[in-house]
Parts: sequence; C-alpha cells; structure tokens
Amino acid sequence: MIAEQLRQRIRNEGPLSIASFMTEALFDPRAGYYATKDPIGAGSDFITAPEISQMFGELMGLWAAQSWIEFGSPKPFHLIELGPGKGTMMADALRAGRAAPGFLDAVQVHLVEASAALKAVQARTLSQTGADIRWSNRLDMIPAGPSLILANEFLDCLPLRQAVRKDGTWHERVVSLKEDAFVFSLGAPLGVDEALIPDTLRDAPDLSLVELRPGDQQVADMIAARFAEHAGRALFFDYGPASPEIGDTLQALRQHEKVDPLDNPGTADLTARVDFTGFADHAQQAGLTAYGPMEQGEFLLKLGLEQRAAYLMEQSPPHKAALARQIWRLTDAEQMGSLFKVVCLDAAGQPVPPGFARAED
Ligand code: SAH
Repeated sequence: MIAEQLRQRIRNEGPLSIASFMTEALFDPRAGYYATKDPIGAGSDFITAPEISQMFGELMGLWAAQSWIEFGSPKPFHLIELGPGKGTMMADALRAGRAAPGFLDAVQVHLVEASAALKAVQARTLSQTGADIRWSNRLDMIPAGPSLILANEFLDCLPLRQAVRKDGTWHERVVSLKEDAFVFSLGAPLGVDEALIPDTLRDAPDLSLVELRPGDQQVADMIAARFAEHAGRALFFDYGPASPEIGDTLQALRQHEKVDPLDNPGTADLTARVDFTGFADHAQQAGLTAYGPMEQGEFLLKLGLEQRAAYLMEQSPPHKAALARQIWRLTDAEQMGSLFKVVCLDAAGQPVPPGFARAED
C-alpha cells in the first residue's frame, strides 16, 4: 500500500530524496512501517540491547539516578526517552532507580514516540511502574526544566540524505521509478548544501557516496536549547563508525535478514550508520559538551555490568548461563560491543558523566 502511494508521489512530484522516501516508508501515519507494526523482538524484524538484557535498562536507570544526584536532586525533573520501542528500557531503568531515595518521587517520565502502535505497547509495558508517564511527538514539546535524556537506536532511523560526487560536483541521491520498480538515481546538484558534507570527505574521488544526517543535528540543536536554561545530560547509543566514512550504509532488515532497501517499502526497518563524530562536533558547536564516542562494550563494563550480573546470578543461580550470554552479546567486539557506541551530551560546566571519567581522574 505504501509502495503504491510512493509510486504515485514520484509520478506527480518527480524523484524523492532518500530522506523523503524513508520518512514516508517508516512513518506514514496509516501505512508506514512503524505505524503498522511492532518491529522489535526475537519473532519480529530486529532485536535491541534492552530486549537482549534487563541489565541494559537497569544500568541506564542507575546512570540517570547518579546524574540526578549530581544535579542536586531536583524535584520535579524530566526523564525523557527518545524512541522507546516497547518501553522495556524505561521499565528496567525505573525499577533500578529505586536504589536512589527520592528519585522515583521526583521523576516525570516523557516518551517521545512517533508510532501510535508502539505508544500502546509502551503504555502496557509501563503500566505497572506507577510512574507518571506522558507522551510527546517531539523533544521540543516537553516543558522546560532539568532533564535526563536516554536514546537507544533512535538516531539510526532518522531520515538521512545521500550525496554522490560526479565530475567534481556533489549531487543528491534520489529514488525514482523504472517502469514500476524503485531505483536509485542521481538528482540535482546539492548547491549550497555541499557545505553539509564533512570537510574531510568533500574532496573524495568521483562516484564516492556520503551520507548527511540533518535529523541528528536537529536533535542536538533541540538539546542545546533545553540545556542552555536548565541542568541536563543526554545519552545516545547506536551503531556507527568512530569517524566519518565514505559509503552507502542504508540498510533494511526484515525478520533479522538484510533485504534490498527499495524492496516493498513499509515492510522492513530502514536505518543507516550514525556519524557519531559529526553528531558530537555539531553538539559542541551548539554549546554542549560532548563525551565519546565510546564503544558500548567498554561503557557498559565501566558502569558495572559485571557487578550487576554477579548480583543477579547470586539471586537466581539457574539464570547464570543466560546472564553470561547477555554480557557477551552486549559487550563482545564481534557482537554489539564495538560497532555500537555511546555519546553523552552535557550542559557545559557539569561534572564528567558516569562512565566517561578516565581511569586516572
Ligand atoms: N529504543 C528502543 C526502540 C528502537 S527502534 C529499543 O532499543 O528497543 C526506534 C524507535 O524510535 C521506535 O520506537 C520508533 O518508533 C521511534 N522513532 C523513530 N523515529 C522517530 C521520530 N522521528 N520521532 C519519534 N520517535 C521515533
């Protein structure tokens, strides 16, 4: 259904940028991928860290509680999650947050979620927590005040643009039609938007492809505006390289298999690697302090993943093997430990966030 809608749009308006194609395929309110299904989990299209282990969300809860204490335990304060999926991470975080006296009484939870289907799943998951939970469609709609922001695999599904260099000029990569099939082709020159290409990549050889992530930058700008007025800290986990790279990383996942991103839009998840360095640099220019990117494995171990596992193993010896396997999946370099990274954006002048202090500090 969304495929036919997209074909019609291309016939009427001409080729679409990758960003427009992705926005409609993922978020069309009636037929988009996220609007129509719950994509996350073993029996679905992809699996994420909080779904692999409760310890992931628990460590986020402890990280948030520690940050809240460093801010002087403000009451109320906003605990915000961007793209909460099934709500699992927030449920685990709130349970762990009980360890900090007063934390749960002070917390006002905000979930920023575009999908009505997932909002319903989140409401069910979080109904037992007793927390006051509100939903927003955008981060900048949440009331001002001290805040902690958590996001796992949110940036990777924000629509991106792709550009290809041809005869020395950068062009938008677009989706057009060949008969009734979607195909990639070369669109108009970027013009002034060429300035968006990272300096280190602008002189790349002909036919190189670079990815531009305006959505990530908007998120950084909204956070900078929030944190300019009140204490705040934001933690982003996602997959991507440590420094910007040339190449097409748009990928589609259906039932845990990679499929052609243009095949049957609306029925597969579309994501691309996050440019963490670009994100952190943009945030710094907007006045924030950025920490990382650090590899997910290293970060979780620094936050005490093994200690948490040892405690849970003692509580429940039959789960020992399962917990050990969860640590392996989250931290091993061949699993999620290395490709997945974390960046923290902080209001300027605050202490170094938990997990980012160097050993000698
Ligand atoms: N954090 C969860 C889910 C990751 S999937 C986990 O780790 O399991 C991406 C999530 O971000 C989904 O909940 C999706 O609906 C949401 N999302 C993606 N783009 C969004 C946008 N622009 N605004 C709000 N929510 C968005």
